[in-house]
Amino acid sequence: MHTQVGIIGAGPAGLLLGHLLSLKGIDSVIVENRSRDYVIERVRAGVLEQGTVDLLIQMGVGERLQREGLRHQGLYISFAGQRHHIDLADLTGGKAITVYGQNEVVKDLIDARAATGRALHFEVGHVVVHDMESNRPKITFERDGREEQVTCDFIAGCDGFHGICRPSIPEHAIKFYEREHPFGWLGILAEAAPSSEELVYTCHQRGFALFSMRSPKITRLYFQVPPEEDIDNWSDGAIWDEMLKRMSTRDGWKPNIGPVVQKGVTPMRSFVAEPMRYGRLFLAGDSAHIVPPTGAKGLNLAATDVMVLASGLAEYYTRNSTRVLDDYSEICLRRVWKAQRFSWWMTQTLHRFPGETEFDYRRQLADLDYLTGSRAAMTSLAENYVGLPLDVALA
Ligand SMILES: Cc1cc2nc3c(=O)[nH]c(=O)nc-3n(C[C@H](O)[C@H](O)[C@H](O)COP(=O)(O)OP(=O)(O)OC[C@H]3O[C@@H](n4cnc5c(N)ncnc54)[C@H](O)[C@@H]3O)c2cc1C
Repeated sequence: MHTQVGIIGAGPAGLLLGHLLSLKGIDSVIVENRSRDYVIERVRAGVLEQGTVDLLIQMGVGERLQREGLRHQGLYISFAGQRHHIDLADLTGGKAITVYGQNEVVKDLIDARAATGRALHFEVGHVVVHDMESNRPKITFERDGREEQVTCDFIAGCDGFHGICRPSIPEHAIKFYEREHPFGWLGILAEAAPSSEELVYTCHQRGFALFSMRSPKITRLYFQVPPEEDIDNWSDGAIWDEMLKRMSTRDGWKPNIGPVVQKGVTPMRSFVAEPMRYGRLFLAGDSAHIVPPTGAKGLNLAATDVMVLASGLAEYYTRNSTRVLDDYSEICLRRVWKAQRFSWWMTQTLHRFPGETEFDYRRQLADLDYLTGSRAAMTSLAENYVGLPLDVALA
Protein backbone atom coordinates (compact mmCIF):
# COMPACT_ATOMS: atom_id res chain seq x y z
CA MET A 1 0.00 0.00 0.00
CA HIS A 2 1.22 3.53 -0.73
CA THR A 3 -0.06 6.87 0.52
CA GLN A 4 1.16 10.44 0.29
CA VAL A 5 1.22 11.05 4.06
CA GLY A 6 1.32 8.31 6.69
CA ILE A 7 -0.06 9.63 9.98
CA ILE A 8 0.68 7.88 13.25
CA GLY A 9 -1.84 8.64 16.00
CA ALA A 10 -5.53 9.55 15.91
CA GLY A 11 -5.48 12.20 18.63
CA PRO A 12 -6.30 15.81 17.79
CA ALA A 13 -3.04 16.34 15.86
CA GLY A 14 -3.36 13.27 13.60
CA LEU A 15 -7.07 13.66 12.92
CA LEU A 16 -6.83 17.39 12.23
CA LEU A 17 -3.91 16.84 9.89
CA GLY A 18 -5.75 14.06 8.07
CA HIS A 19 -8.76 16.30 7.52
CA LEU A 20 -6.75 19.35 6.46
CA LEU A 21 -4.89 17.20 3.93
CA SER A 22 -8.10 15.66 2.67
CA LEU A 23 -9.54 19.16 2.05
CA LYS A 24 -6.43 19.88 -0.03
CA GLY A 25 -6.85 16.66 -2.00
CA ILE A 26 -3.86 14.94 -0.37
CA ASP A 27 -4.21 11.29 0.56
CA SER A 28 -3.27 9.91 3.97
CA VAL A 29 -3.50 6.77 6.07
CA ILE A 30 -3.96 7.15 9.85
CA VAL A 31 -2.91 4.34 12.20
CA GLU A 32 -3.86 4.38 15.88
CA ASN A 33 -2.99 1.79 18.48
CA ARG A 34 -6.03 2.33 20.72
CA SER A 35 -9.68 1.54 20.03
CA ARG A 36 -12.11 4.06 18.58
CA ASP A 37 -14.11 4.16 21.85
CA TYR A 38 -11.00 4.69 23.95
CA VAL A 39 -9.85 7.60 21.80
CA ILE A 40 -13.29 9.22 21.86
CA GLU A 41 -13.80 8.79 25.59
CA ARG A 42 -10.37 10.05 26.71
CA VAL A 43 -11.15 13.17 28.78
CA ARG A 44 -8.43 15.77 28.50
CA ALA A 45 -8.29 19.35 27.26
CA GLY A 46 -11.31 21.57 27.10
CA VAL A 47 -10.18 25.09 26.25
CA LEU A 48 -9.96 26.06 22.58
CA GLU A 49 -8.19 29.24 21.53
CA GLN A 50 -9.92 31.60 19.13
CA GLY A 51 -7.60 30.46 16.30
CA THR A 52 -8.38 26.77 16.92
CA VAL A 53 -12.12 27.48 16.83
CA ASP A 54 -11.72 29.50 13.61
CA LEU A 55 -9.69 26.65 12.08
CA LEU A 56 -12.28 23.99 12.95
CA ILE A 57 -15.08 26.12 11.51
CA GLN A 58 -13.11 26.84 8.31
CA MET A 59 -12.45 23.10 7.96
CA GLY A 60 -16.18 22.40 8.06
CA VAL A 61 -16.06 20.52 11.39
CA GLY A 62 -17.31 23.34 13.62
CA GLU A 63 -21.06 22.83 13.36
CA ARG A 64 -21.52 21.07 16.73
CA LEU A 65 -18.77 23.16 18.28
CA GLN A 66 -20.68 26.34 17.42
CA ARG A 67 -23.91 24.84 18.74
CA GLU A 68 -22.64 23.21 21.94
CA GLY A 69 -19.33 24.94 22.71
CA LEU A 70 -19.37 27.48 25.55
CA ARG A 71 -17.83 30.76 24.36
CA HIS A 72 -16.12 32.60 27.21
CA GLN A 73 -15.30 36.25 26.85
CA GLY A 74 -13.48 36.39 30.18
CA LEU A 75 -12.09 34.49 33.14
CA TYR A 76 -11.52 35.03 36.86
CA ILE A 77 -8.31 35.12 38.85
CA SER A 78 -9.04 34.46 42.51
CA PHE A 79 -6.77 35.08 45.50
CA ALA A 80 -7.08 36.16 49.13
CA GLY A 81 -10.75 35.19 49.05
CA GLN A 82 -11.73 37.45 46.14
CA ARG A 83 -12.40 36.85 42.43
CA HIS A 84 -11.12 39.38 39.90
CA HIS A 85 -12.56 39.42 36.40
CA ILE A 86 -10.34 39.58 33.30
CA ASP A 87 -12.29 40.62 30.23
CA LEU A 88 -10.51 38.70 27.46
CA ALA A 89 -12.68 40.07 24.65
CA ASP A 90 -12.34 43.69 25.71
CA LEU A 91 -8.55 43.34 26.05
CA THR A 92 -8.00 41.56 22.73
CA GLY A 93 -10.35 43.30 20.34
CA GLY A 94 -13.16 40.76 20.62
CA LYS A 95 -11.32 37.44 20.86
CA ALA A 96 -12.47 34.72 23.24
CA ILE A 97 -11.92 31.09 24.18
CA THR A 98 -14.43 28.26 23.77
CA VAL A 99 -14.92 25.42 26.21
CA TYR A 100 -15.54 22.27 24.17
CA GLY A 101 -14.09 18.94 25.29
CA GLN A 102 -11.12 17.50 23.40
CA ASN A 103 -13.09 14.24 23.16
CA GLU A 104 -15.87 16.12 21.36
CA VAL A 105 -13.33 17.59 18.91
CA VAL A 106 -11.95 14.09 18.35
CA LYS A 107 -15.44 12.66 17.83
CA ASP A 108 -16.29 15.35 15.23
CA LEU A 109 -13.00 14.69 13.41
CA ILE A 110 -13.49 10.91 13.38
CA ASP A 111 -16.97 11.43 11.88
CA ALA A 112 -15.49 13.80 9.28
CA ARG A 113 -12.78 11.28 8.45
CA ALA A 114 -15.32 8.50 8.03
CA ALA A 115 -17.29 10.70 5.63
CA THR A 116 -14.21 11.07 3.39
CA GLY A 117 -13.79 7.30 3.18
CA ARG A 118 -10.03 7.66 3.74
CA ALA A 119 -8.16 5.08 5.82
CA LEU A 120 -8.23 5.29 9.63
CA HIS A 121 -7.13 2.08 11.32
CA PHE A 122 -7.73 1.64 15.05
CA GLU A 123 -6.20 -1.00 17.33
CA VAL A 124 -3.10 -1.59 15.23
CA GLY A 125 -0.04 -3.09 16.95
CA HIS A 126 3.75 -2.89 16.71
CA VAL A 127 3.89 0.35 14.75
CA VAL A 128 7.41 1.01 13.41
CA VAL A 129 8.73 3.78 11.14
CA HIS A 130 11.50 2.99 8.62
CA ASP A 131 13.75 4.79 6.12
CA MET A 132 12.92 8.31 7.30
CA GLU A 133 16.02 9.68 5.54
CA SER A 134 14.87 8.31 2.18
CA ASN A 135 12.22 9.55 -0.28
CA ARG A 136 10.11 6.46 0.50
CA PRO A 137 9.76 6.18 4.26
CA LYS A 138 7.46 3.41 5.42
CA ILE A 139 5.30 2.38 8.32
CA THR A 140 4.85 -1.23 9.34
CA PHE A 141 2.19 -2.38 11.79
CA GLU A 142 0.01 -5.31 12.73
CA ARG A 143 -3.71 -5.27 11.94
CA ASP A 144 -6.11 -8.13 12.63
CA GLY A 145 -3.12 -10.38 13.28
CA ARG A 146 -1.44 -9.59 9.93
CA GLU A 147 1.70 -7.53 9.28
CA GLU A 148 0.99 -4.56 6.99
CA GLN A 149 3.23 -2.03 5.34
CA VAL A 150 2.49 1.44 3.97
CA THR A 151 5.07 3.32 1.94
CA CYS A 152 4.68 7.09 2.11
CA ASP A 153 6.08 10.32 0.71
CA PHE A 154 6.08 11.73 4.26
CA ILE A 155 5.30 10.51 7.77
CA ALA A 156 3.62 12.65 10.43
CA GLY A 157 4.43 11.60 13.99
CA CYS A 158 1.22 12.61 15.79
CA ASP A 159 1.49 9.86 18.40
CA GLY A 160 1.69 11.94 21.57
CA PHE A 161 4.33 12.09 24.26
CA HIS A 162 4.59 8.31 24.74
CA GLY A 163 4.54 7.42 21.04
CA ILE A 164 7.21 5.72 18.94
CA CYS A 165 8.06 8.44 16.40
CA ARG A 166 10.22 10.73 18.50
CA PRO A 167 12.25 7.81 19.98
CA SER A 168 12.86 6.56 16.39
CA ILE A 169 14.96 9.65 15.62
CA PRO A 170 18.70 9.02 16.14
CA GLU A 171 20.03 10.67 19.31
CA HIS A 172 22.52 12.84 17.45
CA ALA A 173 19.75 14.42 15.35
CA ILE A 174 17.48 15.67 18.14
CA LYS A 175 17.79 17.58 21.38
CA PHE A 176 15.37 17.59 24.33
CA TYR A 177 14.64 20.42 26.75
CA GLU A 178 12.74 19.25 29.78
CA ARG A 179 11.47 20.31 33.18
CA GLU A 180 9.51 18.22 35.68
CA HIS A 181 7.29 20.18 38.07
CA PRO A 182 7.04 19.48 41.81
CA PHE A 183 3.27 18.99 41.63
CA GLY A 184 0.50 17.40 39.60
CA TRP A 185 -3.21 18.14 39.17
CA LEU A 186 -5.92 16.10 40.80
CA GLY A 187 -8.87 16.50 38.41
CA ILE A 188 -12.52 15.49 38.64
CA LEU A 189 -15.54 15.54 36.38
CA ALA A 190 -18.70 16.05 38.43
CA GLU A 191 -22.38 15.98 37.61
CA ALA A 192 -23.00 19.44 38.95
CA ALA A 193 -24.16 22.55 37.13
CA PRO A 194 -21.25 25.00 36.89
CA SER A 195 -21.72 27.77 39.47
CA SER A 196 -19.73 30.22 37.34
CA GLU A 197 -20.12 30.87 33.63
CA GLU A 198 -16.38 31.44 33.31
CA LEU A 199 -13.21 29.69 34.46
CA VAL A 200 -11.87 30.58 37.91
CA TYR A 201 -8.09 30.21 38.47
CA THR A 202 -7.34 30.26 42.21
CA CYS A 203 -4.09 30.83 44.08
CA HIS A 204 -4.69 29.73 47.68
CA GLN A 205 -2.25 29.28 50.53
CA ARG A 206 -3.06 25.53 50.34
CA GLY A 207 -2.18 25.52 46.63
CA PHE A 208 -3.59 26.13 43.14
CA ALA A 209 -7.14 25.24 42.11
CA LEU A 210 -9.07 25.59 38.85
CA PHE A 211 -12.81 25.72 38.35
CA SER A 212 -13.93 24.88 34.83
CA MET A 213 -16.75 23.08 33.08
CA ARG A 214 -17.57 20.84 30.11
CA SER A 215 -21.26 21.58 29.63
CA PRO A 216 -24.17 23.30 31.41
CA LYS A 217 -24.47 20.14 33.55
CA ILE A 218 -20.86 19.02 34.06
CA THR A 219 -18.21 20.74 36.18
CA ARG A 220 -14.49 20.04 35.70
CA LEU A 221 -12.34 20.90 38.70
CA TYR A 222 -8.67 20.56 39.54
CA PHE A 223 -6.32 21.25 42.42
CA GLN A 224 -2.58 21.02 42.91
CA VAL A 225 -1.22 17.91 44.67
CA PRO A 226 2.26 16.34 44.99
CA PRO A 227 3.24 14.69 41.66
CA GLU A 228 3.13 11.12 42.98
CA GLU A 229 -0.20 11.54 44.77
CA ASP A 230 -2.28 8.35 44.74
CA ILE A 231 -5.87 9.08 43.73
CA ASP A 232 -7.00 6.23 46.00
CA ASN A 233 -5.99 8.40 48.96
CA TRP A 234 -8.78 10.80 48.05
CA SER A 235 -12.40 9.92 48.79
CA ASP A 236 -14.98 12.03 46.95
CA GLY A 237 -15.82 13.74 50.25
CA ALA A 238 -12.19 14.66 50.87
CA ILE A 239 -11.88 16.03 47.33
CA TRP A 240 -14.94 18.27 47.73
CA ASP A 241 -13.68 19.40 51.12
CA GLU A 242 -10.37 20.50 49.61
CA MET A 243 -12.03 22.09 46.54
CA LEU A 244 -14.28 24.17 48.79
CA LYS A 245 -11.41 25.22 51.07
CA ARG A 246 -9.38 26.51 48.13
CA MET A 247 -12.09 27.89 45.84
CA SER A 248 -14.74 29.48 48.08
CA THR A 249 -14.59 33.25 48.08
CA ARG A 250 -15.68 35.82 50.66
CA ASP A 251 -18.75 36.87 48.63
CA GLY A 252 -20.17 33.36 49.15
CA TRP A 253 -19.27 31.93 45.70
CA LYS A 254 -18.30 28.25 45.63
CA PRO A 255 -18.58 25.31 43.23
CA ASN A 256 -21.80 23.29 43.21
CA ILE A 257 -21.28 19.77 44.56
CA GLY A 258 -22.45 16.66 42.71
CA PRO A 259 -21.55 13.02 42.02
CA VAL A 260 -17.94 12.56 40.88
CA VAL A 261 -18.02 10.65 37.58
CA GLN A 262 -14.29 10.59 36.90
CA LYS A 263 -11.15 11.40 38.85
CA GLY A 264 -7.39 11.12 38.40
CA VAL A 265 -3.99 12.69 39.01
CA THR A 266 -1.90 14.05 36.13
CA PRO A 267 1.78 14.85 36.66
CA MET A 268 3.04 18.05 35.07
CA ARG A 269 5.84 18.35 32.60
CA SER A 270 7.41 20.89 30.26
CA PHE A 271 9.17 19.37 27.28
CA VAL A 272 10.40 20.45 23.84
CA ALA A 273 12.12 18.35 21.16
CA GLU A 274 14.20 20.24 18.60
CA PRO A 275 14.08 20.07 15.66
CA MET A 276 10.55 18.76 15.02
CA ARG A 277 11.69 16.98 11.87
CA TYR A 278 14.04 14.21 10.86
CA GLY A 279 14.32 13.53 7.14
CA ARG A 280 10.76 12.90 5.97
CA LEU A 281 9.38 12.38 9.48
CA PHE A 282 7.62 15.42 10.96
CA LEU A 283 6.64 15.51 14.64
CA ALA A 284 3.47 17.40 15.57
CA GLY A 285 1.61 18.03 18.83
CA ASP A 286 2.50 16.26 22.09
CA SER A 287 5.04 14.02 20.35
CA ALA A 288 7.21 17.14 20.05
CA HIS A 289 6.24 19.24 23.05
CA ILE A 290 4.36 19.21 26.34
CA VAL A 291 3.28 22.21 28.38
CA PRO A 292 1.84 22.27 31.89
CA PRO A 293 -1.96 22.53 31.49
CA THR A 294 -2.25 25.83 33.40
CA GLY A 295 -2.19 27.92 30.20
CA ALA A 296 -4.51 25.47 28.32
CA LYS A 297 -2.15 25.38 25.36
CA GLY A 298 -1.43 21.69 24.52
CA LEU A 299 -4.29 20.94 22.15
CA ASN A 300 -4.03 24.39 20.59
CA LEU A 301 -0.32 23.96 19.86
CA ALA A 302 -1.09 20.63 18.21
CA ALA A 303 -3.63 22.40 15.99
CA THR A 304 -1.14 25.06 14.92
CA ASP A 305 1.60 22.50 14.19
CA VAL A 306 -0.60 20.57 11.81
CA MET A 307 -1.90 23.72 10.18
CA VAL A 308 1.70 24.62 9.29
CA LEU A 309 2.48 21.05 8.23
CA ALA A 310 -0.61 20.76 6.03
CA SER A 311 0.24 24.06 4.38
CA GLY A 312 3.83 22.89 3.74
CA LEU A 313 2.65 19.60 2.27
CA ALA A 314 0.12 21.38 0.05
CA GLU A 315 2.87 23.68 -1.23
CA TYR A 316 5.00 20.63 -1.95
CA TYR A 317 2.30 18.84 -3.92
CA THR A 318 0.92 21.85 -5.79
CA ARG A 319 4.09 23.86 -6.50
CA ASN A 320 6.81 21.34 -5.85
CA SER A 321 8.21 23.75 -3.26
CA THR A 322 9.68 22.68 0.10
CA ARG A 323 9.85 26.26 1.42
CA VAL A 324 7.37 25.80 4.32
CA LEU A 325 8.42 22.19 5.00
CA ASP A 326 12.04 23.33 5.32
CA ASP A 327 10.99 25.98 7.85
CA TYR A 328 8.36 23.81 9.58
CA SER A 329 10.35 23.23 12.75
CA GLU A 330 11.44 26.85 13.10
CA ILE A 331 7.94 28.25 12.47
CA CYS A 332 6.36 25.90 15.02
CA LEU A 333 9.06 26.15 17.67
CA ARG A 334 8.87 29.91 17.80
CA ARG A 335 5.23 29.65 18.86
CA VAL A 336 5.86 26.58 21.03
CA TRP A 337 8.46 28.41 23.10
CA LYS A 338 6.15 31.37 23.58
CA ALA A 339 3.49 28.94 24.80
CA GLN A 340 6.09 27.34 27.11
CA ARG A 341 6.91 30.79 28.47
CA PHE A 342 3.25 31.63 29.06
CA SER A 343 2.39 28.23 30.56
CA TRP A 344 5.36 28.48 32.91
CA TRP A 345 4.41 32.04 33.90
CA MET A 346 0.79 31.04 34.64
CA THR A 347 2.03 28.00 36.58
CA GLN A 348 4.48 29.83 38.79
CA THR A 349 2.11 32.76 39.32
CA LEU A 350 -0.71 30.54 40.60
CA HIS A 351 0.91 27.45 42.23
CA ARG A 352 2.63 27.08 45.59
CA PHE A 353 6.08 25.52 45.36
CA PRO A 354 7.50 23.18 48.04
CA GLY A 355 9.79 25.00 50.47
CA GLU A 356 8.28 28.42 49.84
CA THR A 357 8.14 30.82 52.76
CA GLU A 358 5.51 33.30 53.94
CA PHE A 359 7.59 35.95 52.15
CA ASP A 360 7.13 34.12 48.85
CA TYR A 361 3.36 33.91 49.38
CA ARG A 362 3.11 37.66 50.11
CA ARG A 363 5.14 38.40 46.97
CA GLN A 364 2.86 36.09 44.97
CA LEU A 365 -0.20 37.93 46.25
CA ALA A 366 1.41 41.24 45.23
CA ASP A 367 2.06 39.79 41.75
CA LEU A 368 -1.61 38.84 41.45
CA ASP A 369 -2.73 42.21 42.83
CA TYR A 370 -0.62 43.90 40.15
CA LEU A 371 -1.88 41.55 37.43
CA THR A 372 -5.55 42.17 38.19
CA GLY A 373 -5.09 45.92 38.69
CA SER A 374 -3.07 46.81 35.59
CA ARG A 375 -4.67 46.92 32.15
CA ALA A 376 -1.23 46.33 30.59
CA ALA A 377 -0.64 43.18 32.69
CA MET A 378 -4.17 41.89 32.03
CA THR A 379 -3.73 42.50 28.29
CA SER A 380 -0.56 40.42 28.28
CA LEU A 381 -2.41 37.54 29.95
CA ALA A 382 -5.43 37.93 27.68
CA GLU A 383 -3.59 37.95 24.35
CA ASN A 384 -1.62 34.85 25.30
CA TYR A 385 -4.66 33.06 26.70
CA VAL A 386 -6.84 33.54 23.61
CA GLY A 387 -3.81 32.52 21.49
CA LEU A 388 -0.96 34.38 19.86
CA PRO A 389 -1.10 34.75 16.09
CA LEU A 390 1.20 32.71 13.88
CA ASP A 391 4.16 34.88 12.88
CA VAL A 392 4.12 33.77 9.25
CA ALA A 393 1.61 33.91 6.44
CA LEU A 394 0.63 30.46 5.15
CA ALA A 395 -0.70 29.75 1.70
C1 LIG B 1 -5.50 15.96 32.08
C2 LIG B 1 -5.12 16.80 30.89
C3 LIG B 1 -5.72 18.05 30.73
C4 LIG B 1 -5.37 18.85 29.63
N1 LIG B 1 -5.97 20.07 29.49
C5 LIG B 1 -5.70 20.82 28.40
C6 LIG B 1 -6.39 22.06 28.13
O1 LIG B 1 -7.26 22.50 28.90
N2 LIG B 1 -6.10 22.74 26.99
C7 LIG B 1 -5.18 22.26 26.09
O2 LIG B 1 -4.96 22.92 25.05
N3 LIG B 1 -4.51 21.10 26.31
C8 LIG B 1 -4.74 20.36 27.43
N4 LIG B 1 -4.11 19.15 27.60
C9 LIG B 1 -3.15 18.71 26.61
C10 LIG B 1 -3.84 18.07 25.42
O3 LIG B 1 -4.72 17.07 25.84
C11 LIG B 1 -2.76 17.51 24.48
O4 LIG B 1 -1.84 18.53 24.20
C12 LIG B 1 -3.37 16.96 23.20
O5 LIG B 1 -4.03 15.76 23.45
C13 LIG B 1 -2.28 16.75 22.14
O6 LIG B 1 -2.80 16.08 21.02
P1 LIG B 1 -1.90 15.07 20.19
O7 LIG B 1 -2.78 14.59 19.10
O8 LIG B 1 -0.62 15.71 19.87
O9 LIG B 1 -1.55 13.89 21.19
P2 LIG B 1 -2.51 12.81 21.85
O10 LIG B 1 -3.83 13.39 22.20
O11 LIG B 1 -1.72 12.19 22.96
O12 LIG B 1 -2.75 11.76 20.70
C14 LIG B 1 -1.76 10.85 20.29
C15 LIG B 1 -2.43 9.62 19.74
O13 LIG B 1 -1.45 8.71 19.28
C16 LIG B 1 -1.78 7.42 19.73
N5 LIG B 1 -0.55 6.63 19.78
C17 LIG B 1 0.41 6.63 20.74
N6 LIG B 1 1.37 5.76 20.43
C18 LIG B 1 1.02 5.19 19.25
C19 LIG B 1 1.61 4.20 18.45
N7 LIG B 1 2.76 3.60 18.79
N8 LIG B 1 0.99 3.84 17.32
C20 LIG B 1 -0.18 4.41 16.94
N9 LIG B 1 -0.79 5.35 17.69
C21 LIG B 1 -0.21 5.73 18.84
C22 LIG B 1 -2.45 7.63 21.06
O14 LIG B 1 -3.27 6.55 21.47
C23 LIG B 1 -3.25 8.90 20.79
O15 LIG B 1 -4.54 8.63 20.29
C24 LIG B 1 -4.41 18.36 28.69
C25 LIG B 1 -3.81 17.10 28.86
C26 LIG B 1 -4.16 16.32 29.95
C27 LIG B 1 -3.50 14.97 30.11
